[in-house]
Amino acid sequence: MSSNLKIEKVCEWCGSQFVARTTATAYCSHRCSSLAYKERKRQAKLQQFKDEYARTQNKPDKDIQEIEFMTPIELSRLLGMSRASIYNYITAGVIKKLRLRGKTLIRKKDVEELFETPPTIDAYIPCRTQRNPISEFYTSKEVQEKLN
Ligand SMILES: [Zn+2]
Repeated sequence: MSSNLKIEKVCEWCGSQFVARTTATAYCSHRCSSLAYKERKRQAKLQQFKDEYARTQNKPDKDIQEIEFMTPIELSRLLGMSRASIYNYITAGVIKKLRLRGKTLIRKKDVEELFETPPTIDAYIPCRTQRNPISEFYTSKEVQEKLN
């Protein structure tokens, strides 16, 4: 660039007008230039941190393609449902489960099959129903009398 050039510019850092010697000059002074450089560095670092954070937040516990079994909690996260709903479906027998000592496991294949043959709404039993167990019992004789 020719040093004879005089270009009126506005400093990209402080906003004051100045006369630049080259078209590439963006700052009025070395100070503004270095401050702007530091800010760019800071922003880049901040963005890097944000990206890193977003990655950890979206990271599933396991790769869904690889898993065969999951816990009710993992399934609730996967389907975006509450844990209570998942347990209700399990209790209602809509979602099949394998109960091992202290651990309930659900097969991914079974969940996928639910999408093939969706359960009816009737299959959903709310929690409170579970707390009111059958209160009427009949002997076989009473049943015979009732049903003739
Ligand atoms: Zn400046």
